[in-house]
Amino acid sequence: MEIKVVKRIMEANEQHAEVVRRRLRESGVVALNLISAPGSGKTSLIEAAIRELKGRVRIGVIEGDPDTTRDAERIARLDVPVVQINTEGGCHLEATMVLRALEEIEVDNLQLLFIENVGNLVCPVVFDLGETYRVAVVSAAEGHDKPAKYPALFRTAQVTVLNKIDLMPYLDFDEEQFTADVRRLNPEIPILRVSCRTGEGVSEWTEWLLQRL
Ligand code: MG
Ligand code: ZN
Repeated sequence: MEIKVVKRIMEANEQHAEVVRRRLRESGVVALNLISAPGSGKTSLIEAAIRELKGRVRIGVIEGDPDTTRDAERIARLDVPVVQINTEGGCHLEATMVLRALEEIEVDNLQLLFIENVGNLVCPVVFDLGETYRVAVVSAAEGHDKPAKYPALFRTAQVTVLNKIDLMPYLDFDEEQFTADVRRLNPEIPILRVSCRTGEGVSEWTEWLLQRL
């Protein structure tokens, strides 16, 4: 009984994701689904990209959070279109939520759309949002074992961002192990080393984004 319900939810999500994909293609928009644990710096990575690319690329942001509009307020300060989705406690975004947000954000005017998923390394991975690319974000503070423990994210992402590298001197983060685990799951995936705080690696991040357009 329960299994059937889950299957129906996933099938409905697949259909909605296809509609999103078509909608993005028609508008010529590249959409990125950022997935990470809470506090890894997804919003900071989006802010950093906006600061570097504003004026050159038309950017929009969909913010997913269980509650509050805090991240959307941060983005709005940079003067780009932003829509907040509150999942009311829900632990992931679904394609139908993105579909509604696309109408509000006037997707036809955009080139690049960031979708910040709810901070969670598990179920966002199984819900296709119809995105063009999936971005796995890990901060050094979370430890090097995340790819080994949450392999599905790293297997299905097109890029991994290792954020907060400025903290590494204070942590027992084994970067060699981290890189080996990511590569074992996804041999070709680029791993971008970034610190949003110091700005190190931000240009590599924005360069990667520009190459997707
Ligand atoms: Mg955030
Ligand atoms: Zn969930």
